[in-house]
Amino acid sequence: MMTRRQIVAGLAAAGGAAAQAPERPFDLLIRNGEVRDPGRGFRARADVGIREGRVAAIGPSLPAANARDVVDARGLYVTPGLVDLHTHVYFGGGSVPGIDADPVAARSGVTTWVDAGSFAHDNVAGFRRYIVDRSQVRVYGFVYLYPANRDPQADAVKYVRAAMRPTAEAVKANREMLLGVKVQIGANMNGRFSPEFLKIARELCDEHKLKLMVHVSDAPPEVPQIMEQMRAGDIITHSYTGHGTSLAEAAGKLKAGVAEARGRGVVFDLGHGLGSFNFAEARKCLDAGFPVDTISSDIYQRNIEGPVYDMPTTMSKLLYLGMSFDEVLARSTARPAKVIDRVEGMGTLQVGGPADVALLTIEDGQFQLVDSQRNAVTAKQRIACRLTICKGRRVQAPL
Ligand SMILES: [Zn+2]
Repeated sequence: MMTRRQIVAGLAAAGGAAAQAPERPFDLLIRNGEVRDPGRGFRARADVGIREGRVAAIGPSLPAANARDVVDARGLYVTPGLVDLHTHVYFGGGSVPGIDADPVAARSGVTTWVDAGSFAHDNVAGFRRYIVDRSQVRVYGFVYLYPANRDPQADAVKYVRAAMRPTAEAVKANREMLLGVKVQIGANMNGRFSPEFLKIARELCDEHKLKLMVHVSDAPPEVPQIMEQMRAGDIITHSYTGHGTSLAEAAGKLKAGVAEARGRGVVFDLGHGLGSFNFAEARKCLDAGFPVDTISSDIYQRNIEGPVYDMPTTMSKLLYLGMSFDEVLARSTARPAKVIDRVEGMGTLQVGGPADVALLTIEDGQFQLVDSQRNAVTAKQRIACRLTICKGRRVQAPL
């Protein structure tokens, strides 16, 4: 194998061909892959050249002699880096102990991680210093309005009311990193306080013009009540939970307010998690013409060994349910990137845009996929990741 210097020397000896190469070398060149970018409707066999953390060129036969690092992507899909809108990457206790993003990113293609409220306003500085600043991947967060480490003796509603102002201030002071406010509602989560918490969260987000992410699980509150509180740009997560806040009736019809909510721009997110993805429920909603807008894993320590494992496994479940690869990909790249709306071009592959890339493949075989209730299916295909590139660099699992 020739080194780059030998290749360039060879070309020069052959008559100055090196002089025709672009002036500045690519830092990384991905060759021979099948580029799939549903956000731009682009699909073609093409090379992708990366320079200084950005996509510098996309096209056939880009000059390999002029690249510092070359990846052969023959037989692989070259896609935008995956964007996981619901994860837990904050270290520590509580009901959702987070995982380290980088090692999972290295094997899963996820270049953008959104922590869905593992921390409250008083841990924002820690989130920045120990998670966001130290990760190779991009990390954003929603601030949780009602932390797990609260004083159990305190009046819950009073406590949440008191948290309103510092929560809003934290989000507004860290807008490049924080996306909004997360609240968990449902009989099994914050119990009888849930309707009140939802109202408080609504009030807070209206007053400060913040995005609201609402975790749904067991009713009450019932779905129509929840939908009434959701505005354009807000997010419902756990859309395919098989619990009381199912978006569709048992007979398959969507519940009151759901289609209207989507119509006015509410985002419906998957949020698999330990307890919130059910195959039959997903099938029912898909049959009702209600695919999720965004596919997300809700990964944390207690589900990384199953049933979640990672984002490609979660995506494979939608593929199994009949969603096309491009539809799955759009809901795992461009669509969630639009919800985040912090980096221009994120979630797509375009010249000048961020060089966040996943090298994916669809494996054929017999694969067992398991939902949150441990229902197992056998899929004939599985999405897998071969390489993750974020900000132009290979994401490495730290030693
Ligand atoms: Zn979660």
